[in-house]
Amino acid sequence: MATTTTPLSVAASPVPQHRLQSLLDIDVPTRSLNIVCVGAHPDDPESGCGGTLAKFADDGHKIQIVYLTRGEAGIRGELWDSTAQTRTSEALAACELLHGSTHFANQIDGQTRADHDACRQFTELLLSLNPDIVFTHWPFDTHADHRTAAQLTYQAWQWSGEAFVLAYYEVMTGVQTHHFQPNCFMDISSTWRQKRSAVYAHNSQNPDRFYPYHEAMEQQRGAEASCARAEAFFVIREKSPKPLLPFTI
Ligand SMILES: [Zn+2]
Repeated sequence: MATTTTPLSVAASPVPQHRLQSLLDIDVPTRSLNIVCVGAHPDDPESGCGGTLAKFADDGHKIQIVYLTRGEAGIRGELWDSTAQTRTSEALAACELLHGSTHFANQIDGQTRADHDACRQFTELLLSLNPDIVFTHWPFDTHADHRTAAQLTYQAWQWSGEAFVLAYYEVMTGVQTHHFQPNCFMDISSTWRQKRSAVYAHNSQNPDRFYPYHEAMEQQRGAEASCARAEAFFVIREKSPKPLLPFTI
């Protein structure tokens, strides 16, 4: 398996380059990395970073997707049990398209928790996957479950002793994600079609309703990163990135 590609590349960005340097020296891997993506609902990981996950998979890295819930409340008029079944099947199909494996944290859609017990359980699950890089929701988001996913992941990162690179992704920026400040981009020009297929595996969610937002975001981020299409991230490798302070431009 090829494992020699720099996982997160950075192109020209509107963010001053000197603010990025300390975050972007992710080493060229000499082994297969464990890439984990956390999403609150089936379709979130695919929408937020499906193109990036596909690129990592192409380079021979292991992809694992953790869904915090099974999206039980996501089909209007349907019973939660049957909705969970439908959306679980869709998630499995989407993961297969991204060459990833699937894990469910078994919280409930719309009722997610990040209290101490929930953090402990989630941390156990996440660390059992031995992650090198974890993608998760940006914490400023209009959806409470997205915020919970961010909080659980951050707590796991903190309790692990910051044992993995933490990368935040955006979903439907301006509608759900807010105040997103990317410092890292992934060129997905070669994988956006694969991403689109994975998103459209979530047929019950009527992807025509939301994928156009992501298509516009991919093109906008691509313009910022000097490529056709990109996904954007805020990456942290340490709790207090002192080289970034003060925030002078
Ligand atoms: Zn969601």
